[in-house]
Amino acid sequence: MTDEHRAKSANGEHSPQGLQSSQSAEVLVVGAGPVGLALAGDLAWRGHSVILLEKSDGSIFQPKMDLVGIRTMEFCRKWGIVADVEATAYDREYPQDNVYLTTLKGHELGRQPMPSMNAELAPPESPQKRERCPQNFFDPVLQKFARSQAGLVTYYQTELIEFVQSSDAVSSTVKDMKTGEMRTVVTPYLVACDGGKSAVRESLGIAMKGRGLLTYTTNVIFKCANFNALHDKAPGYRYMFVGPTGTWATIVAINGRDHWRMSIIGNAQEKTNYTHDELKALAHRALGAPFEMEILSVLPWQRAELVAESYGQGRVFLCGDACHLTSPTGGLGMNTGIGDAVDLSWKLGAVLSGYAGPALLNSYFVERQPIAKRITQFSTGNLETLKKVPSSAKIEEEGPEGDRVRLAVGEALCEGLKREWFSLNMHLGNRYTNSPINVYDEVESAEDQAIEFNDAVHYRPSSRVGARAPHVWLSDNTSTLDWLGRDFVLFCFASSTPRIEDVVRTAKHWKIPLQVREIHHAGAKALYEKAFVLIRPDGHVAWRGDDGPSSEQAVQDLWLTVCGRTHVKESASNRSSISGVHS
Ligand SMILES: Cc1cc2nc3c(=O)[nH]c(=O)nc-3n(C[C@H](O)[C@H](O)[C@H](O)COP(=O)(O)OP(=O)(O)OC[C@H]3O[C@@H](n4cnc5c(N)ncnc54)[C@H](O)[C@@H]3O)c2cc1C
Repeated sequence: MTDEHRAKSANGEHSPQGLQSSQSAEVLVVGAGPVGLALAGDLAWRGHSVILLEKSDGSIFQPKMDLVGIRTMEFCRKWGIVADVEATAYDREYPQDNVYLTTLKGHELGRQPMPSMNAELAPPESPQKRERCPQNFFDPVLQKFARSQAGLVTYYQTELIEFVQSSDAVSSTVKDMKTGEMRTVVTPYLVACDGGKSAVRESLGIAMKGRGLLTYTTNVIFKCANFNALHDKAPGYRYMFVGPTGTWATIVAINGRDHWRMSIIGNAQEKTNYTHDELKALAHRALGAPFEMEILSVLPWQRAELVAESYGQGRVFLCGDACHLTSPTGGLGMNTGIGDAVDLSWKLGAVLSGYAGPALLNSYFVERQPIAKRITQFSTGNLETLKKVPSSAKIEEEGPEGDRVRLAVGEALCEGLKREWFSLNMHLGNRYTNSPINVYDEVESAEDQAIEFNDAVHYRPSSRVGARAPHVWLSDNTSTLDWLGRDFVLFCFASSTPRIEDVVRTAKHWKIPLQVREIHHAGAKALYEKAFVLIRPDGHVAWRGDDGPSSEQAVQDLWLTVCGRTHVKESASNRSSISGVHS
């Protein structure tokens, strides 16, 4: 493993003697993968105290994610870390084409040209664009962001062993893996970002449902400095290889330079355990000739489509892969987890600040589980398109019959996978259509909602309640999104009214953080449709109207709803051992 491949954290940087029992915080976050780092960082950015635990030393054995989606980049903009993402070591001039081939020395079946990161422009719908930034580059950016927040302490090589929750706190037993010492940490909330094998989820007895195992896949990262000089095809980000039995492997440019990730796609029936020699032979098959390569790491993993039946219990929540597992065909696993993190973070923060009620926390599952179902089903669909190419038995045959097969396969892949490469609506079009904390101004049919949810490509910016508030460049060169963040924001596209003043006055009286922003911009006014739009701290629309609610009571009801101040029964005391022993 090279230095670039290894993302090393500063172990124990925050406390050479490790976590102390006397230490406390408002939230304990378990797992410092990308989602735990984002959640802990966002909570601390909102001014809350957080302890973040990670059982490993922070090294990344093998980078998994490499697409940082456009919505995640909007969060990075809010956190002030876009420049850090852009400064990572991926070659920003390297083209991002998806290329379908028999072998790199054989036939090119089709190609979806995609610009390099330097050439790609942000689309009109966002101030940001997606980025190629694999996990061994992205995690250190998130670590730096998280560590720069005053209220956060991080402990590596520290494992959550068990937790007990009561009606007002969670008491967690954690182990310092260097010394073996056990400590008890008491926090009002615990969030498990402990990955797909989440022991916290298991201890809570929360089931995962969905299509389950999709494939046994093997990823191998190899180093080859001159790989693209070994063949005659134009460089691509992703090469996808189709043989007589269908699509069997991909090779992606994991740093745009000399590191490559080959995935042997596999199936759900055979669990394979390849030797290095077998993996080299498969790489040689993909190229179409033997070549010198250095295997850096091998990761057999199980691709699955699964979503948790609940996102927590009492004061314990699940976030990221701990509550949804998806095929990476779509690049949505981590991006969805970071969406969960921002949703949960502002809600926990609002409750901890004292202005919101427990119903706000219940809305986390109601809002985010449909998104997880949406992205997992979409991603499995992409996998099926990739694997179910038209009959390819004669794909390597020279002559007219082989040409016909190659044309058909190339067309099927080029057309079928467009929705994966251009899935803007999967990233920006996640709208909370049935949330108990939104105040809806229109009745929507289930059919309309299904059409919007099933369309991966066409994002229609809108201020409809539940939607991500849309981006517009304002005259001072800021985005409307730059005005959103820690507090509620009321966008006013018209002069205030007595009813709107009532909304503002009530927020102040109830100590709900609200900023009022008058916007004099014709384009923004047209896009936002209504004179007044109330946006939540996660950037989603809570309410909109051409005037405020019609009575004093209706104004109060508005704030009671969006702050989740309806009465919810706390769950009973519950002890859980994540090593599987319930006591
Ligand atoms: C090949 C591949 C490619 C992918 N590409 C993309 C992509 O391009 N874009 C995308 O969005 N997603 C992608 N994904 C998915 C993405 O990698 C995951 O969704 C993401 O890593 C999940 O992050 P997480 O923080 O929830 O979990 P993890 O990354 O699994 O992190 C969980 C952490 O919790 C720690 N932990 C576990 N138990 C404990 C404990 N008891 N105490 C302390 N620490 C604990 C673990 O050590 C680990 O560090 C890809 C996945 C694969 C396999």
